[in-house]
Amino acid sequence: MSRVNLLGLLPSELEDLAVELGASRYRGRQLATWIYRKSVFDLEAMTDLPKDFRQELAERAVVEVPELEREMPSADGSRKLVFALNGASRISSVLMPDDERITLCVSTQVGCGFACGFCLTGVMGLERNLTAGEIVSQVLVSNRLLEKESRRVTHIVFMGMGEPLANYAAVVKALRILTDAKLGVAYPPRRITVSTVGLVPGIDKLGREDLKVNLAISLHATTDEVRSRLMPVNRSFDLAALLAAVKRYPLASRQRVFFEYVMLEDVNDALDDAQRLVRLLRGVKAKVNLIPFNDWEGARFRRPPLARILAFQSVLLDAGITTTVRWSKGEDIGAACGQLREPLAVASASDS
Ligand code: SAH
Repeated sequence: MSRVNLLGLLPSELEDLAVELGASRYRGRQLATWIYRKSVFDLEAMTDLPKDFRQELAERAVVEVPELEREMPSADGSRKLVFALNGASRISSVLMPDDERITLCVSTQVGCGFACGFCLTGVMGLERNLTAGEIVSQVLVSNRLLEKESRRVTHIVFMGMGEPLANYAAVVKALRILTDAKLGVAYPPRRITVSTVGLVPGIDKLGREDLKVNLAISLHATTDEVRSRLMPVNRSFDLAALLAAVKRYPLASRQRVFFEYVMLEDVNDALDDAQRLVRLLRGVKAKVNLIPFNDWEGARFRRPPLARILAFQSVLLDAGITTTVRWSKGEDIGAACGQLREPLAVASASDS
């Protein structure tokens, strides 16, 4: 019988498990505190748990954490963390410090099945979904790493490899663990952002979860013709359907929906596009992030000249839409938006 991974269970499930093992729910709460609050993964180190309970537990369960295989620092201060999962797969997360803020970009799938034309992860295709534990682990391991510098991840964006809403159950479970203020990792929901290619049913479902996390939409075009060419998903959920879903998404009083717009020269960077974008976002509490295209070998797109990006931004600003140009971090280490692709892990001789 395979043993259950404790990392990835909801605090309430840890309580249930404790009861199943003949202990009190309190023991489950202690487990949750060790794993999620203290990032301690070794059962032996959980010293306030009775010895016989720890033994029972060891027979039924493990705490499995993806191995941090490589840490790649960028000249801009960000770093890419490459994790080896069990099996041959690898995923990456990106740590991005910015003054007091440290944002972690987490992956939700190995590869991605949506094949957006400008994204390198899309070239890989989808290999598999991550489990809730594998998603949460990226945060816990990052915090363990930052502990040495007396720092901590302050913001989490679900913008790494994969489409979060295509791995819905695991992503929502990870969000519950990350935002559980008492027994989970205790992040305020407003410091977490889930980004999607625009899966309308997933957006609606997420809105009903009452998680209160931020929503980001990868928009990238202002006509269905162009968007369908760039993003095949637009043939299933077009701009009208997508914007309608965004307008239904419940927002707190000062919360806004983020829109990502990758700037591609002569594809979506004209002033006409900017004006259409203004019209599309009418009635939406929106904040726009323009992302200058990050190049990769074999890409069929180019980044527009700076002047063109700024002119595009001006149109939005003049219309009263908060718009920033987001220069991706970690371009030199293949960690920028759209550049994440990790080769399969090669089992080393020492593994055998
Ligand atoms: N699948 C989700 C989560 C990934 S977020 C989503 O698409 O929203 C990663 C962001 O980087 C997306 O907005 C994506 O469109 C953008 N991106 C992809 N390739 C890029 C590239 N080459 N340059 C700049 N941004 C890119």
